[in-house]
Formats: sequence, structure tokens, C-alpha cells
Amino acid sequence: MANAIPEALQRLINNFSALPGVGEKTATRYALYTLRSNENFALEFSKSLKELHEKIKLCSVCMTYSQDDPCPICSNIQRDSSVLCVVEDPSDLLAIEDANTFKGLYHVLHGAISLMDKITPENLKLNELERRLDSGSVKEVIIATSSTRAGETTAHYIFDILKDKGVKITRIGYGIPMGMDIKYADRATLSKSLGARQEFQL
Ligand SMILES: [Zn+2]
Repeated sequence: MANAIPEALQRLINNFSALPGVGEKTATRYALYTLRSNENFALEFSKSLKELHEKIKLCSVCMTYSQDDPCPICSNIQRDSSVLCVVEDPSDLLAIEDANTFKGLYHVLHGAISLMDKITPENLKLNELERRLDSGSVKEVIIATSSTRAGETTAHYIFDILKDKGVKITRIGYGIPMGMDIKYADRATLSKSLGARQEFQL
């Protein structure tokens, strides 16, 4: 069966299969769709992939993905730089931005502490977070990690390293159901959670 698939097509199937949630069958369907489409579709696609790493870097302030450094959020003087919202992933930042109620700045950790997934504090952008607090302009840190086990572990860890820094530490409210990932919460729930944030308690 494997021999029936031309090598270049098989390679694309393998590429698609590497994506989360995409099995062999779906990958094959995507690859065949790409092959059957106008050649421009494939060229555009490859151009997007090629430029992805060339053009997008991490913002040196908040660590989110950006073409500019600092990113448009960090360089927006209308935003309140005294409040930092700490999130696990750039997708969480996007979800909160989409809710359109938060006017402070962000800090993106790029993951959450999880022994099962072998993600330790060293893998996260925690040193960068501590460094940001040293400037003294931050008055409140909102911990907006998910209410999953990894998110909770991370929240406690952050509280531990920041508690003596003289900033107010809050945790977003539990409008977000236990086990819920921030990025899947709807706008109203996110707005409510941010509004209902409380001082962090162990
Ligand atoms: Zn930024």
C-alpha cells in the first residue's frame, strides 16, 4: 500500500500527520486536497511556512509571538503598564484580547509546569517575569493560568517566587470551570473571570 503513494505526497502526509489531532486519514485527505488544488495554493502555503520563523520572533518584553519587538501591545502607551496578566500561551493572550476588557500588559510563559509532560519551571519564561518586576513599575500581577492541574501548579509556583517582591498578586476568578483551558473560554466568561480576580491565596 505504502508503495502506491508517491514519495513527495507521502512526505506531505507525514507533515500533516505531525499536527496535533490530525491522524493518518485526515493527513492523507489534506495532502490530496493540496495536490488537487491550483498550484498557487501549495506555493502560498509553502511561502507562509517559510516566512513563519523568519518573520515571527518573541517580543523581548512579554514573550509573545510578534513581528515587531516590542510587540504592538507592549508598545501601546495607552495600556496600563502597572498590571501584568500572566498566561500560559500566546493563544490565551489572544483569547483575553478578544474579550476586550483587559487594558494592562501580558507575560507569556510558553507552557505550564507538568511533571507528566516533563515541563519544569526552567522551561518557562519565569526569569523574564521576575526581571520585569525589578523595574518597579508593576503593581499587580494577575495569574491567569488555566484551572487545570498544570495551571494550578504553575500559579502556586509563580506566587512563591513573587510573593516577596512587593506587588499585589491576584488569581483570575473561577467563572472558568475547574479543568478549563483559558483559550477555550468564551469572551463573557473571560471578562467575568478577570473582573472577579482575587488576591492569591494558598
Ligand atoms: Zn510584548
